[in-house]
Amino acid sequence: MSTVATDTHRNRRPGRIHVTTVRRMRRITPRMVRLTLGGDDLSEFSSNGSDQHVALYFYEPGVELPRPFTTDAARALLPTAKPRLRRYTIRGHRPELHEVDMDFVLHGPDQLASGWAETVRPGDEVIWFGPSPAYPVAPVTDWTLLLGDETALPAIGAILEELPPGHRVLAAVEVADRAEQQPLPTRADATVTWLHRHDRGHGELLREHATTLQLPDGQGRVWGGAERGVMRDLRHHFVHTRGLDRADTHLTAYWTQGETQDSEV
Ligand SMILES: Cc1cc2nc3c(=O)[nH]c(=O)nc-3n(C[C@H](O)[C@H](O)[C@H](O)COP(=O)(O)OP(=O)(O)OC[C@H]3O[C@@H](n4cnc5c(N)ncnc54)[C@H](O)[C@@H]3O)c2cc1C
Repeated sequence: MSTVATDTHRNRRPGRIHVTTVRRMRRITPRMVRLTLGGDDLSEFSSNGSDQHVALYFYEPGVELPRPFTTDAARALLPTAKPRLRRYTIRGHRPELHEVDMDFVLHGPDQLASGWAETVRPGDEVIWFGPSPAYPVAPVTDWTLLLGDETALPAIGAILEELPPGHRVLAAVEVADRAEQQPLPTRADATVTWLHRHDRGHGELLREHATTLQLPDGQGRVWGGAERGVMRDLRHHFVHTRGLDRADTHLTAYWTQGETQDSEV
C-alpha cells in the first residue's frame, strides 16, 4: 500500500470574498462553457487544488454593493440583501495571470447560474466566496475510484491532473452523449470510462456502472459528485455492500433533482 502522507495544510486554507471580472468565455463542449475570471483581487488567491469549489454570489438586480466589497462588507449586508449561492469548482488556476477557470454545465437558460453563464460577457463582474477545502490528492490507498456526472467533470479533471504518476485510478463519468467528452490529462495510471446517457435518466448509468464494477485488489477509496439520490445510493453501496471504510468514501451531492440550490446552501 502507498503510504504518502496527506498534506492537510494545503487543503485547508480559509476562503474569502473575491471580486473578479469575466475575461473570456469558451464553449468546451456543446453543453459546457468555460469562463475565465480574473483581476487584481486574485493576486493573493490561495488555491487549495483538486476539487476545491467556491460559492458564486447572485444578488438581486439593483442591490448597491459597498466598495471595496469585502468578506466583512458581504456579512454586514446580509440583513438587507442576501445573495443566492451556487457552487462551482475551480477547474484551473494561473497565479501568474491572476485568473481562474470555472466550467458551467448548461442545463437550462431559465436556471439561475446556468442561464447566467450562457449570457455573461467579458467585463461582467463575478463575486464569489472561497475556496473550500479540497480532497487530498496524495493517495493513502492503493487505488482511487472517481465517479461523477458532468457537474463533477471539472473536479474529476482537476483531481486527475494532480494525482501522482503511476497511482491506479478508475474513473467513470456520465455525460449526455459523446460530444460532451473532453480530454482528461493525467500522469496517473488511469482508465476513464465515458457513459453516454442519451435518453436514460440522470445517474442511472453511473449507478449501474459503479455497482457492477470490478474493483482492483488492495485498499481503495472512492470520490464522487453527482445528483443527490445517486450519491446516496452509491454511498450505501460502497460502505454496506463493498465494505469500504466510510473515511475512504467521499461522495457529494452536486445537485438535487427538482430542487434549486437555494434549498441546499
Ligand atoms: C461542491 C460542488 C461543486 C460543483 N461544481 C460544479 C461545476 O464546476 N460545474 C457545474 O456545472 N456544476 C457544478 N456543481 C453543480 C451546480 O452547483 C448545480 O448544478 C446547481 O444547481 C446549478 O445552479 P443553477 O442555478 O443553474 O440551477 P438551480 O437553480 O440550482 O436548479 C434549477 C433546476 O435545475 C436542476 N438542475 C441543477 N443542476 C442540474 C444539472 N447539472 N443537470 C440537470 N438539471 C439540473 C435542479 O434540479 C432544479 O430543478 C457543483 C456543485 C457542488 C455541490
